[in-house]
Amino acid sequence: MKTLGLVAHDGRKDDLLDWAGAHANRLATLKLYATGTTGGRLKAAFPELDLTALKSGPLGGDQQLGALIAEGGLDALVFFIDPMAPQPHDVDVKALVRIATLYDIPFAVNRATAEAIIARA
Ligand code: PGA
Repeated sequence: MKTLGLVAHDGRKDDLLDWAGAHANRLATLKLYATGTTGGRLKAAFPELDLTALKSGPLGGDQQLGALIAEGGLDALVFFIDPMAPQPHDVDVKALVRIATLYDIPFAVNRATAEAIIARA
């Protein structure tokens, strides 16, 4: 695994930051792509990461990640979805889930699965 996408809904951003902190050394060996706000928080917390922040998710960032997957540019995706909050860009979230499923990339929507992905990375 060389490239990894990272996204977290607002209610899960702290959880993603915590997970990233636990795996900072491994993440530092990867090329990372994240949606805008998630990426900004990751960069602030871990400036050593090679991270490209795309547009914010609701402004097209989820679709940018989907396009990267379709072009073969993402080896895996970690997307901490908030199961308790409705999202205004739910159609974009569904589209990203669909593309990740279609292209059969390792795809985590919670921490337990993210641990499994990073362990085999
Ligand atoms: P954000 O987008 O990182 O810009 O908040 C995440 C999302 O898709 O909700």
